[in-house]
Amino acid sequence: MNLQHQRKLLTDLRAQYEAGLSDVKEQRRSGLRRYESTEVPDDDVDAGTVLFDRERNEVIEEDFAALLKQVERALAKIDEGTYGLCDNCRKPIPEERLKALPYATLGIDCQERLERSA
Ligand SMILES: [Zn+2]
Repeated sequence: MNLQHQRKLLTDLRAQYEAGLSDVKEQRRSGLRRYESTEVPDDDVDAGTVLFDRERNEVIEEDFAALLKQVERALAKIDEGTYGLCDNCRKPIPEERLKALPYATLGIDCQERLERSA
């Protein structure tokens, strides 16, 4: 496993997710301003659309924030020297998984177990 390469991938992903997150936040801010500037929505359809857009943005924002946290954790693991080891059971995570998902901090088994219990 080439840690230098994984670190580069993670740094790029972090920049990408940070940009995505601030984009979504900016969109949400301008969306809220637009909504607040309209005294009364023209009709129920418009109000529903605005609410739907706000909800969707919030979901995307959480997704980006969660991914960002995982990327940060993976970078911290490189520094700690535990990169490539499952955070839960400490067994090595398969290289193919790390190549596909550089920010994986759990092995597949532990990931699935946690998702099932969530
Ligand atoms: Zn595990």
